[in-house]
Amino acid sequence: MRNFWSDADAEATVARYRGEGIGAEVALRVYTTRLLGGDPGLVLHGGGNTSVKTRARDLSGDEVEVLCVKGSGWDMGSIEPSGLPAARLEPLRQLRLREAMSDDDMLLAQRANLVDPTGPSLSVETLLHAFLAHKYVDHTHANAVLALTDQPDGEELCRDLYGRRMALVPYVMPGFGLAKTAHEVFQAEPEAEGLILMKHGIVTFAETAKEAYERMIEMVTLAEKRVAAAVTEPFVQVSLPDDVATAAEMAPILRGLAALPEVGRKGRFKRFVLDHRSNPEVMRFVDGADLERYSRRGPVTPDHVIRTKPWPLVVRLPRRSGLDGFTEAAKAAVASYAADYSAYFERHNAGRADRKATLDPAPRVILVPGVGLFGLGRSAKEARIAADIAQTSVRVISAAEGLGGFESISEADIFDVEYWSLEQAKLDEAKDLPLAGQVAAITGAASGIGRATAAALRAAGAEVALLDNDADGAARVARELGGLGVACDVTDGTRVSAAFEEVVEAFGGVDVLVSNAGAAWQGRIGEVAEEVLRQSFELNFYGHQRAAQAAVKVMRLQGTGGVLLFNTSKQAINPGRDFGPYGLPKAATLFLMRQYAVDHGADGIRANAVNADRIRSGLLTDAMIAERAEARGLSEENYMAGNLLGREVTADDVAQAFLGLALAESTTGAVLTVDGGNIAAALR
Ligand code: ZN
Repeated sequence: MRNFWSDADAEATVARYRGEGIGAEVALRVYTTRLLGGDPGLVLHGGGNTSVKTRARDLSGDEVEVLCVKGSGWDMGSIEPSGLPAARLEPLRQLRLREAMSDDDMLLAQRANLVDPTGPSLSVETLLHAFLAHKYVDHTHANAVLALTDQPDGEELCRDLYGRRMALVPYVMPGFGLAKTAHEVFQAEPEAEGLILMKHGIVTFAETAKEAYERMIEMVTLAEKRVAAAVTEPFVQVSLPDDVATAAEMAPILRGLAALPEVGRKGRFKRFVLDHRSNPEVMRFVDGADLERYSRRGPVTPDHVIRTKPWPLVVRLPRRSGLDGFTEAAKAAVASYAADYSAYFERHNAGRADRKATLDPAPRVILVPGVGLFGLGRSAKEARIAADIAQTSVRVISAAEGLGGFESISEADIFDVEYWSLEQAKLDEAKDLPLAGQVAAITGAASGIGRATAAALRAAGAEVALLDNDADGAARVARELGGLGVACDVTDGTRVSAAFEEVVEAFGGVDVLVSNAGAAWQGRIGEVAEEVLRQSFELNFYGHQRAAQAAVKVMRLQGTGGVLLFNTSKQAINPGRDFGPYGLPKAATLFLMRQYAVDHGADGIRANAVNADRIRSGLLTDAMIAERAEARGLSEENYMAGNLLGREVTADDVAQAFLGLALAESTTGAVLTVDGGNIAAALR
């Protein structure tokens, strides 16, 4: 474990925050907290916390002794002084005289002592920091330390490695109980340089930020060396057949099986996004003959349980030649996972004074021999967090198995943390957006209607894949919206298949297709070259068919329905002079939409079209607008607003129509007109 302390960086941090009125003690606390938080071998995604005891002025202007401790919801790697709210230290310290304290009382006491009452809630481990006397206290969930403590004889291993330098704290659930126990252990061994929290993590402390940090690095490095000296290949590997399915081939099956049917709403599901990992360490783990045994023993540190559930779902190896059999077996595995989870909930909820409401029974981590691991979440971000934590668990469990045998906390202790209201409060409480958990692929997404539609779907909670033959444009929009940019020319069938594989690899599947890519060809129909017509059909008809077919293939594997949305344009209904080469394939695409509605309604797949007209875009350039307005003797503005409502229609209007159709769960085979009113193009 590298020591990243630098006197120059520390001084620069102090100088920078001095300008904002932040004292050196807090500035250095920020500096080393970031150093710790930047190392995934120490903490992940909001885990761990740090504190400093200093002095601050309260609201009445009096200088008081305070504890600045990490606020709940802050990440150590990107902490700011505002992420270390100050609380009056003395009243918090006094709490250690109590015998016991409920979580609610503890939180009230923490909040009541905030110097700035509008600040964030203090970490649930605040009292651990308050009860220890040292100025700087650092707490992480270092992988190497977990590998040592997560053992049946973890205390012996730690004692052997650290001697009396570290005091050992038996596992106690975080909160008041742990703070009190840790304090008692330290009082009995006041010479210790830190604490090992069995099956949870490590605490170091000192009078300076530098020393507390360097002790953390030193103690974790000792653990790393101990782990490295142990057996490096703990898992007997199974031999793999040569036709293992790829993640893109089998992920939609898992994604569909994991989706939760909405109660009382047939054909509707709470869906998950999947994040796939398959580095060599993960593969050695999932290809181990004893995977079931070592993977399902519980979390490597308690607070992971809220992201991963108590154990992962393990399914059998998928063979390309036998995907139907795999699907059946995986279906049974998902059902038994849900049954196990419900039984676990009932076992530990029964007889509690504070009855809990059960969380959903879907797995958040799936292990697949031959393929890797999948993190599941209601968004790509949540899925990534679950996958990151699963990858860390793989590392810790591999090391622990190499040292001896991995052992987690008891099932009752796991339940206490998973259903601890203070942990649940850490999860995003934002209400689910209407397309949360859904994946949308949009073609022609780099500009105009495609871009606007991608933005609208993203705002409604969908993950978006931006497909465009302008790869740079797709990548740019992906960065703007937080999506995936994919180079894709829809006139090339191989490229379309590859693009959908990329989407499935990134998110696990597809639920919404917006088939929008198109371009206008002109020519008087009596004399236009056949080649022009064929080119237009290639893009404006076959392009839609290729994208729709690729999407339907994924949707049918998922078995949770989906929706295909086509941009057909008013030309499909109401031919414009010399626009035959554009209108004819668009008319065919309108019927293509209806054919999908007919043929795949039974799969729960809906198909609808948007029939838009006169939108500024690559199809209708400013030059074309000027020319047409002039031909009609109109100003450009009047030309663009030449409809029943008398106002220009925008790409955003079309995007809202696509979004509306994506959400219209009982609408299929429909064409929605977005043209400001043009009775000649109205459907009848
Ligand atoms: Zn902790």
